[in-house]
Amino acid sequence: MVNQPPYAALVQEFGRAQVVEAIRDQVAAERKDEVVDDDERSRRVSARLRASATPRLRRVINASGVILHTNLGRAPLSRSATEALAVAGGYSNLELDLETGRRGERADLLAGLLKRLFDCEAALVVNNNAAAVLLALTALCKGREVVVSRGQLVEIGGSFRMPDVMRLSGARMVEVGTTNRTRAADYEDAVTPKTAALLRVHTSNYRVSGFTESVSLSDMEAVARRHDVLLIDDLGSGAAEPIADEPTVAESLRLSDVVTFSGDKLLGGPQAGLILARRAPGVEAVRKLSRHPLARAVRIDKLTLAALEATLRQRLAGRLDDIPVERMLRMPVEEIRRRAGLWSVKLEERGVNSSLVPGESAAGGGSLPGHALPTMLIALAGPASRLATALRRGDPPVIARIEKDACCLDPRTVLRGEDEQLIDAVEAAVKTLGAPANSRRSL
Ligand SMILES: *Cc1c(COP(=O)(O)O)cnc(C)c1O
Repeated sequence: MVNQPPYAALVQEFGRAQVVEAIRDQVAAERKDEVVDDDERSRRVSARLRASATPRLRRVINASGVILHTNLGRAPLSRSATEALAVAGGYSNLELDLETGRRGERADLLAGLLKRLFDCEAALVVNNNAAAVLLALTALCKGREVVVSRGQLVEIGGSFRMPDVMRLSGARMVEVGTTNRTRAADYEDAVTPKTAALLRVHTSNYRVSGFTESVSLSDMEAVARRHDVLLIDDLGSGAAEPIADEPTVAESLRLSDVVTFSGDKLLGGPQAGLILARRAPGVEAVRKLSRHPLARAVRIDKLTLAALEATLRQRLAGRLDDIPVERMLRMPVEEIRRRAGLWSVKLEERGVNSSLVPGESAAGGGSLPGHALPTMLIALAGPASRLATALRRGDPPVIARIEKDACCLDPRTVLRGEDEQLIDAVEAAVKTLGAPANSRRSL
């Protein structure tokens, strides 16, 4: 069938194998449902091919109010970071020194910026923070002991569990303290001649409350100094700017030897793992990391490098408002209320009823647990879960959230310039439900 004239153009466009597969699927469908004529069959094969050729990765509008939404790609990039991707997409001077014409180091493109931004002495960027921690433990602690609090043996999304990473690195994990309480003396007692490092893991995605005690980084530093072992700090979210009670990169650099954190959490850049050091033992350690064979296996690609460079330059220039994550984190509730009010009016004009209800946004992505960001939600009138589904299946898809049995939109995480599209998408979603859009829910 594939050799018949109606399919020639499709073979040109999609390749023979895909056309054959689509015909097979169509014929199978006809066997189950109804047999159609040749014209209709080729039309349906074409529709199948077109549907399967639309990219699986699509832009969505995040109206969930979760800023670093793991399922939605964590940090949205700034405009200049997005533009930098296009530059890196072609040929670039990734590993060429344009002055001398000699081979350059891709790592050097970022190291200088990172040193300036964080006032540190050594910097290395790898694929993500999980890789950064694995690399640090492997290169610095393999075959030796690493002391870590039982309260910090965390799992961070999916399969990043600290004990597993430790095993993979070949370092021997020495657990101290209990889930809720660890004291400085616990670390002190655990240090032996085989100890390579103390590891602090920022419990970034949960909070232990009640009868708890943990050791401050400065107390851990004292123990590490006394015994001349490294202090490695897995900071996770990596706040470049102070926010809530999140530990900052600056504070960590002051006290620990090697600091690691993600590029796509509070930093607001692309997925990456940043490894920084300011003090002598850490600086030497980071050099060791960059020469380790594993560093090559987890190195960053040129697209990441380009987007990260752009993000770091915006931070250096103090243009925090141009970085979506920073803007969203700091957006005043009055601004959100104004935007919500505007949307509500526009929706009303299209026959969609809604009400404004105070609520909370979340940093998400395992950052700032328990830190509420007051917001103003738009609660759409209508069946909550059916509305949320219709929005998610729309074009562009809109991710809402259900709260108190209402489908709610949080303006905080909707990017600049997406307002009109969002209004259109809401109107369309309400219409697909079939019910008259302005059948106000009576109480
Ligand atoms: C998020 C996080 C990680 C994992 O970072 P990725 O960049 O997602 O690989 C590791 N440790 C901590 C403490 C984290 O918060």
